[in-house]
Formats: sequence, structure tokens, C-alpha cells
Amino acid sequence: MNIALIVLDTLRKDRIAPYNRTIDFTPALSDFAADATTYTNAISQAPWSLPAHASLLTGLYPWQHGASQRFPYLHAGTRLQTVLGDAGFNTVAIHNNEWLLPVTGVTDGFDRVVTRSEWTRLLRQPWRIDRLEPLRSAVIRLGSWGNLRRTITQTSDLSDELSATQSVLETHGDDPLFLFLNLTSAHFPYNPPDQYAEDAAHQYRSRPLENGGPVVPAEIDRLSALYDAEVAYLDTVFGQVIESFKAAGLYDETLFVVVGDHGELLGEDEILGHHFSVRDELIEVPLFVKPPGGGDGRNDTLIETRELYYRLCKAAGTERTDPGRLYPDRACGIYHEPVIYGSRLPSARRELDTAQFYAVADQDKRVLTDDSAVPQHRSPDRQLVGEPSDG
Ligand SMILES: [Zn+2]
Repeated sequence: MNIALIVLDTLRKDRIAPYNRTIDFTPALSDFAADATTYTNAISQAPWSLPAHASLLTGLYPWQHGASQRFPYLHAGTRLQTVLGDAGFNTVAIHNNEWLLPVTGVTDGFDRVVTRSEWTRLLRQPWRIDRLEPLRSAVIRLGSWGNLRRTITQTSDLSDELSATQSVLETHGDDPLFLFLNLTSAHFPYNPPDQYAEDAAHQYRSRPLENGGPVVPAEIDRLSALYDAEVAYLDTVFGQVIESFKAAGLYDETLFVVVGDHGELLGEDEILGHHFSVRDELIEVPLFVKPPGGGDGRNDTLIETRELYYRLCKAAGTERTDPGRLYPDRACGIYHEPVIYGSRLPSARRELDTAQFYAVADQDKRVLTDDSAVPQHRSPDRQLVGEPSDG
């Protein structure tokens, strides 16, 4: 049996058909969901890529693995790729997410890491000087560089990730395969390929909006349409990835976990992007699990994405013990500091005020209150560059 862990980066759960019947532009995900178990209560441990992936690949909470804005390196825990590699899996990572570059340590332990950027080779293990504070800001800039790169290159392009996946599947040998694939196209800025972008939204492609920056209500519909176009493109490529598994005869021999690492704000709290709060739209993520024999419809059980680590270890026959949730009935994560504990509240209350969805706790994990407002990153000097144009 092979294992495929596919992260659909920055994908909002409410923008794909398996979770929202009004969506008509994600047919591949719908087809896949029909073969899989669809989890309706999956919570990511962080609202941005680095700590979210670190939790996925170590089974640890962010305050345990330590990868954060302040300290952007993963240096704790036993990575999933290491466990599966020791169990005889050939382990391959394919991604173009700057927070997963070798300097952050998240993909350490894979037999092979495929990324687009040639210069990342300079950041491979022999050159790493992690844990040095002077490098921190450089790593942060690397992460931000991804947004800049997407702005410069203008158009989302997952063709490298797709061709690398096809190559891995076509040359797959006798050893079981663990493929970690991150597809980042729904990520800010939104530059979908022409055939996916609505004409009316095109004008926003080159606008220098800022991740986490404010948006004015007049912009939200168009930005949202651009985001949906990115999701439609992501869905197409995801479908091609699944077709590649089928073409290689591996679809029914593979355990698939398809998950979001976090969502995206599209004007909620008048913010664009992610990383800046723990609203539902950011930490409630899509999750599909398809064992070789197929899935089992919908599952409403609360699940933390870090728990997938233990499920995958167990499926590979290398059981590792989950120390358990901090609270059995809650999902926990982190948003910068302090620690945030997500508490599942009745839907009526969540709709009433999502800001009361979380409890804030101090560094000793002591819950201070269940009704604290979510800290918002809203620096007062942030301004839009230029004004939205008409039409
Ligand atoms: Zn991400």
C-alpha cells in the first residue's frame, strides 16, 4: 500500500462542492469525495503554512514543535517521512511552498524533495545554520518571497508539481511510496490562468494588495471571484493528479489523505489573506480520506489535522502513540502568541459571533476565558495601494 498526503494549500472549505452544494467549479474534488470519507469537522493547528505543516508531519501541537513566526524552523518531533522511511517506504515530497524549503527543516528526512527553485539547493542541509537568530528575518523574508514571486510571475502554474508527480508514479518501483504533495495556487496573490479568471476580475491581477492587509467592501466580490478561479484551477490539477494515480494503476493501492493546511479570509473582518486570525474560515479545513478500498461517506467527528500523523503511522504498520488532545472535546491550535484553544460551540452561537469561538490561554496552557475576542492583526498604518478601478 502507498500513502499520498496531498495538501491543498489555502483552500477554503466553503469554496468546494463537497462542502457547499452551490459550488459548481470543483468537479474533481466532488468525484474524489465520492470515493472517500469527507470529514466535516477537521481543524488545522495553525492558520498558516509553516506551523500547520509542522503539525501534520510531526503529530505535535505548535507549542510542542515550536515552528512559528518567531522561530521559523522545525526541530522537534519525529517526522512522518522518517517514520515511513524507516518502515520501508520510498518518501518523496513535491511542493513549491516557501515555508517548506529546506531551511525550515519541515521536509528533512524525505528521500527526495522536488521544488521548483534552483537556488533552494543552496539552502540544503550542509548550509543550514538554523536556530541562529540573525537568520530568522531572512527565513521570514523567504516565505514572503513566495508571494512576491507569484506576483511577478503573474500566473499560477502547477505544471511542475503535476509533471513531477507523474514522473514519480511512472517510475515507482517495488517499495511502497509515501508521496507528500503540496499544491499552492489558491494562495494570495490570486493569479489564475486566463481560462479560469473571470474577465471582470482580471484587473486585480497586478494590483499590489497585501497579504493580511485590509480590503474595502467594493473589492471583495472581485477578489473572491479570483480566488474561486484559483480554486477551479487547483481542482483541475488535483483531478489530473488523481488521474495519474489511476493511469499508473496505483489508485486502488493507495491511502489518500487530502487536506487543507488553512483557509483564507476574503473580506471577513475586512481582511484579505490568512495568518492573521483564527476565524472559522482559516482553521476549519477540508479533509478527505480514501483508503484503498474506498471511503465511508461523511464523518462529523471532530478531528485535529495533527492526528492524521498517527493515523498514517498506524496504517503503515508503525504505530506511534498519540498523547491525546489537550481537551477531548476541543481542537487546539496556535495563533502567534498567546496560545488559542478552539472550542467547538453550537453552530447557532458560532454564527452569532465567530469571534467567541475561541478561548485564549496563557503559555502554561491555562485557559483564561472562554469569551475572549480573537486577537486581530490590524496594524493601523496599512493602506491599500491605489484605489479599486471601475468595471
Ligand atoms: Zn499554506
